[in-house]
Amino acid sequence: SSDSLGVAPILTKLQKDCATPLPVLRHVADAMADDMRAGLAVDGGSDLKMILSYVDTLPTGNEKGLFYALDLGGTNFRVLRVQLGGKEERVVATEFEQVSIPPELMFATSEELFDFIASALGKFAQKEGGNFELQQGRTREIGFTFSFPVKQTSIRTGILIKWTKGFAVSGTAGKDVVACLNEAMERRGMDMQVSALVNDTVGTLAGARYWDDDAMVAVILGTGTNACYVERVDAIPKLTKRMSKSPITIVNTEWGAFSNGLPLTEFDREMDAESINPGEQIFEKTISGMYLGEIVRRVLVKMSKVGGLFGGSYVPEKLVTPFVLRTPDICAMQQDTSRDLEAVESVLYDVAGVKSDLSARKTVVDICDTIAKRGGRLAGAGIVGILQKMEEDSKGLIFGKRAVVAMDGGLYEHYPQYRGYLQEAVTELLGSEISKNVVIEHSKDGSGIGAALLAAANSKYE
Ligand code: ADP
Repeated sequence: SSDSLGVAPILTKLQKDCATPLPVLRHVADAMADDMRAGLAVDGGSDLKMILSYVDTLPTGNEKGLFYALDLGGTNFRVLRVQLGGKEERVVATEFEQVSIPPELMFATSEELFDFIASALGKFAQKEGGNFELQQGRTREIGFTFSFPVKQTSIRTGILIKWTKGFAVSGTAGKDVVACLNEAMERRGMDMQVSALVNDTVGTLAGARYWDDDAMVAVILGTGTNACYVERVDAIPKLTKRMSKSPITIVNTEWGAFSNGLPLTEFDREMDAESINPGEQIFEKTISGMYLGEIVRRVLVKMSKVGGLFGGSYVPEKLVTPFVLRTPDICAMQQDTSRDLEAVESVLYDVAGVKSDLSARKTVVDICDTIAKRGGRLAGAGIVGILQKMEEDSKGLIFGKRAVVAMDGGLYEHYPQYRGYLQEAVTELLGSEISKNVVIEHSKDGSGIGAALLAAANSKYE
């Protein structure tokens, strides 16, 4: 209509604000490397916490025996067992189960929650048969992936800082979660013990390293995002107490908190201001699955209000609700190759209750692409920042030979354009020669087997 601005100027400004030309990518990669260094120098030295994982032995492939993994990171937990047969036989067998946590336990006492977990684990262990065999005289060892903030003090101890993701369990904060689980298992007379407490990115790196000696970095791109990598102990000034003789250790970057030099828009700033953690996790809010759909939704609201996207200044009522447009929706719209953009039409109708014409649908796809492109390219720049930092400290470690970056998470797995943009940025930054040797690949079994492998690599019997 005549009083609206039209969509074109808003789209053009969005594309300009989200642009990630090579100099921007280069700046982000350099800033990531600098922030990593600052975080390794002293605790609190940068946006990046650079948490020591206490994992300083990665799987070699020689691991043998029966090991368990427990993954607690949300309303479900997964239990898994794996029989390892060494270099030749590798993974002889695996079995896993998913258990959902009864909602009332999220508000229970620490003992009640850990008793429930121990009991489920015990039941699972009782079904151990056929291909699984525990070595004589051993207890069952567990790799425990625990995706809540903990202050780790050894491979087997981590103090819970606070519950997140809707958990309000009383009496765990300030306690060692490994001890909580071990005590619950003891109360039930179970023959099981935690040998390794691991972050999910660290589990992913361990899982990838088991199959490929060149795995150096792991990145998770799912609802949130994080990355870890292999660091030289002598490049960590803040590490004063050496725990082992190993020359390397895995550092959990907590890179979601990165914020330096990112190209942000009015939509990002408003989303951040209204979030539960304003000013925090800015990289995560720009590149991860929880937020991409929400950023697109905010653009659509503005375009309908002042750009006449859906006619006049009509703003679909449903579209005003935060987070109604999810990242899988924008991904689905980008896969639409039909001439009339029928899939885009139906997503817009289902999610926003709005009837759209072809030109509006085209604009919507352009917005999705702009936000996914920025996210993927910035994630790629972050990865190059990590590789650059590693290479600067150990010439020839990464560039000039093969290096693998293990990727996991639903966003990376299911969003082909995002994946493509990520790879494209890495290639642009590294140049075609070096990037041929930098393999960015989806790590299939995720952190599941990785945690069990870390229990094996850190077994109390070795
Ligand atoms: P989490 O990170 O929650 O532990 P996942 O690694 O499975 O679990 O990631 C789930 C996230 O992946 C979702 O929140 C969503 O943002 C993203 N995702 C899932 N499916 C798709 C899809 N089809 N397209 C794009 N993103 C997706």
